[in-house]
Amino acid sequence: MARIAILLNERCHPTECQWECADYCPVNRMQQECIVEGPTGKPVISETLCIGCGICIHKCPFDAIKILNTPEADESEIVHRYGYNGFRLYRLAVPPLRGITGLLGPNGTGKSTALRILGGIEVPNLGDYAHPGSWAAAAQRFRGTALFAHLDRIRRGELRVAHKPQYVDRLSEESATVAEHIAAGGGNASAAIASLGLEDRRDRRLAELSGGELQLVAIGRTIATEADLYLFDEPSGYLDIVHRLEVARVLHRLGENHGVLVVEHDLALLDYLADQAHLLYGEPAAFGVIARAMPMRAAINSYLNGYLREENVRFRTEPVRFFSHPPKPASRLDTLVEFGALEKEFDRFHLRVAPGRLARGETVGIVGPNATGKTTFVRMLAGVETPTRGLPPPGVTVSYKPQYLKATQTASLRERSTALAGDPNFDAQLFERELVPGLHLEEVLDVALPDLSGGELQRAAVALALARPATLYLLDEPSAYLDADERIAMARLLRRQVERQAVSALVVDHDVYFLDLASDALMVFSDEGSGGRRGTGAGPFPMREGMNRLLRGIEITFRRDAETRRPRINQEGSALDREQRAKGEYYYEIPD
Ligand code: ADP
Ligand code: ADP
Ligand code: MG
Ligand code: MG
Repeated sequence: MARIAILLNERCHPTECQWECADYCPVNRMQQECIVEGPTGKPVISETLCIGCGICIHKCPFDAIKILNTPEADESEIVHRYGYNGFRLYRLAVPPLRGITGLLGPNGTGKSTALRILGGIEVPNLGDYAHPGSWAAAAQRFRGTALFAHLDRIRRGELRVAHKPQYVDRLSEESATVAEHIAAGGGNASAAIASLGLEDRRDRRLAELSGGELQLVAIGRTIATEADLYLFDEPSGYLDIVHRLEVARVLHRLGENHGVLVVEHDLALLDYLADQAHLLYGEPAAFGVIARAMPMRAAINSYLNGYLREENVRFRTEPVRFFSHPPKPASRLDTLVEFGALEKEFDRFHLRVAPGRLARGETVGIVGPNATGKTTFVRMLAGVETPTRGLPPPGVTVSYKPQYLKATQTASLRERSTALAGDPNFDAQLFERELVPGLHLEEVLDVALPDLSGGELQRAAVALALARPATLYLLDEPSAYLDADERIAMARLLRRQVERQAVSALVVDHDVYFLDLASDALMVFSDEGSGGRRGTGAGPFPMREGMNRLLRGIEITFRRDAETRRPRINQEGSALDREQRAKGEYYYEIPD
């Protein structure tokens, strides 16, 4: 069988190893040149000579090599290939002329690459990485399909595209103000600023903005641009639940008269946004295949079931299940942690959290808009922030995963766990047997922490936090940077660990599916209309009450999918939406 050999460039450090890959390669030992030094000083692995023994994969001290069998897709279907031992993208998505199409798939399977190609930003090389591609050749390849006209328009320079890139952090390096940056898109800046609620921040410099504000500005500039096709690469990043839904409404309106393509991992949001979606499958960083578009409901159900019938591809062994009835509230007798009222006063912000208790084996979600004090509350429980009034619960050992992560040490995960072996504050057995496989970290065990991608670092940080024996686990936004699959896996693992060890966890997050899968109860934070000057936190409440408190504030109701029971956002003003609002049941089925 034919093979794909991938070298993960950023992980390969050829001056810091002994070239174990080439040394141990049995083909090299037979005097053939299977792994040799390439022009960049890094190894090049011959896909024709490789026998697929896997020795180089295990010998590489940096986990920088992947060898796989070729995917089901045909070599002739390669649209783009990044170098000889680089990533390959098979097939393309079809941009809609009007309406919204989603792209849903794991990190590292080529979603951003596909968006850049369809937006005319990156010229596809059709697999011939040695030569720059051309739009004429690309259009020719798709002759007779719906993509021909699109690629030909790019070739003729007639396609106007607006692109919201995946990473918005780097906007903070620009000296422009919010209004200047949005107006530079060339269109109606005031309308975009108003529709995203940015009026009060028009004259702020980008450098002073939070991640969520930068995301809104990037989206604002994109919608303010006059274009034929709009591309949004992960628009929900850094956004709280309220803003995710606001952005969804704005994109809905855009899609009424324009074609829109969206990459998104928040399934409730994508489901609400898009009319149809392409699922992607493959092997992260090695190859990705874009499947044919399906209607939205079928696409997400197929994704949750873990099986793509049309292509006979299975991407998960177990289907993901939701429950239309809330879980039974935990017995109050089993209280594990009890906290009194806590307050924190900053110069321009006052947080009040009502007393509450956490039951043994219970995972509690913390929901609410940004800047309502969720992180401050968690930090007070973690002992990092001193409350102005009240005391964190005495005698509780906590383990804390902060919201913002930064790899400060160059060690790898394996080196960290080896260094911690024998430390009573580290459960090495749990780490190796449950957490590493449960969070799919095997492949990155030997990668230096600063070389990890955002999603990999997040999973590593959660694994390290859960390996620390504690009564109370505090995880602040653990789903950030994860793809939908990783979110599902993490939600399940967290809940199982907390139950099994009869401890408690508090999890701040904005992804409704993640919260639904992970939580037994909810704490709800709000700014009570104070414009960001005050925050209040209350709960834990049983799931039904918590969801109702949260969703009443943002005026969104959910119905249930008949097949998977997963929650789906109702269209505003639909019969169900009105009925549920009238009854005050925003999330779970109306009790008989
Ligand atoms: P996704 O958006 O699905 O996470 P990307 O399209 O960003 O995936 O990237 C897919 C893979 O392609 C990445 O894992 C990376 O290894 C590779 N890749 C992306 N951009 C480049 C590039 N400019 N040069 C080389 N490889 C790249
Ligand atoms: P959330 O996690 O809900 O987004 P945070 O707890 O991070 O909210 O912040 C709540 C408010 O407190 C914000 O307005 C933030 O600017 C302010 N704040 C947080 N930490 C500090 C601090 N150390 N000094 C002053 N203000 C702070
Ligand atoms: Mg991407
Ligand atoms: Mg926070």
